[in-house]
Amino acid sequence: MSQPVRQLLDDVIGGARMTEEEAAMLLRARGPEVWDIARAADMVREEKVGKIVTYVRNQNLHLTNICKNLCGFCGFGVPPSAKEAYLFTKEEIEAEVKKARERQVSELCFLSGVHPDFDTDRYVEFIAFVHDLMPEADLHTMSPDEVAWAAKQSGISTQEVLERMVAAGLGTLQGTAAEILVDDVRTTICPAKVPTAEWVRIIKEAHRMGIKSTSTIMYGSVETERDRAEHFGVLRSIQDETGGFTELVPLSYLHEGTALHRRGLVTRGATGREDILLFAVSRLFLDNFDNIQISWGKIGARMASLGMLAGGNDFGGTMYVDEVSTDAGAEAADYFDPAAMKEITDDLGRVLKRRSTVYEILD
Ligand code: SF4
Repeated sequence: MSQPVRQLLDDVIGGARMTEEEAAMLLRARGPEVWDIARAADMVREEKVGKIVTYVRNQNLHLTNICKNLCGFCGFGVPPSAKEAYLFTKEEIEAEVKKARERQVSELCFLSGVHPDFDTDRYVEFIAFVHDLMPEADLHTMSPDEVAWAAKQSGISTQEVLERMVAAGLGTLQGTAAEILVDDVRTTICPAKVPTAEWVRIIKEAHRMGIKSTSTIMYGSVETERDRAEHFGVLRSIQDETGGFTELVPLSYLHEGTALHRRGLVTRGATGREDILLFAVSRLFLDNFDNIQISWGKIGARMASLGMLAGGNDFGGTMYVDEVSTDAGAEAADYFDPAAMKEITDDLGRVLKRRSTVYEILD
């Protein structure tokens, strides 16, 4: 291990805060240093959250794949004219919620396209409808980008949108649409989404209103290690101010079926080295986060097992359906049985626990 890396890891394990430049340096590591960084992250994880690995019983509700944004990294969203375009009827939503009740999920995620015709009333109608059907579930829905779109469509403030959604039954906000919070990167991968400053403003507004959210990073497309580090810096400073993030959800870019790949701007997603370093460096850099999720739907169960040795402490959800990942080429993103999660945690000498959306231990 080089002296600068050894010193940095010792300092961080000792409680020092890492700079973005230092994070970028670690994200560029090659060879055995990757394992040194993962080991340091594992030590910090053990110190912070111990042996428990969590998961949530959740289910996605893909209300529509019609989307006005058509991000370059996405294989799910389509224009209204596409032959595969769909919008769930109330009966279809009811059938999905019935399945969710039978599966005893505690969280329902509306993971959908940003429909060009939706306004605040329409979103509120969906939330209220599902909340009435399953009031015991946390409705984990709406990204800052969707909140901004609802506000624009209805000519009201984003705070008013959030107030109306909470009144209708919204539980927690999705920290999605973050992708990489560096505007030069957003211009290439998601030019129609809100810029960084607006994403930050809305997420802080929600946190100040008492609405918790996840945070995400979608890495492995066109961004550099420096961009990933800058993204971590944005999240850490928000968390310093609000404490409203429940976790970081790293989302490894799946390139098949996406416009960036078709246009030749990327030839692949992240490598296994990059995945491991992303988990480990996020654990080391985000000293004000308790939870680093290992998103098995993007990287598969075996890599998820290694992620748990590189700073991870949460599997995310059971899912039951994840068209966003499968449409972009994921092989097995639809359902992760808690029994399979337990096999992994037993193998690692860790302890699996079910949690709520906001990380209360449920069993
Ligand atoms: S990532 Fe979301 S906003 Fe972007 S195209 Fe896909 S569904 Fe639409």
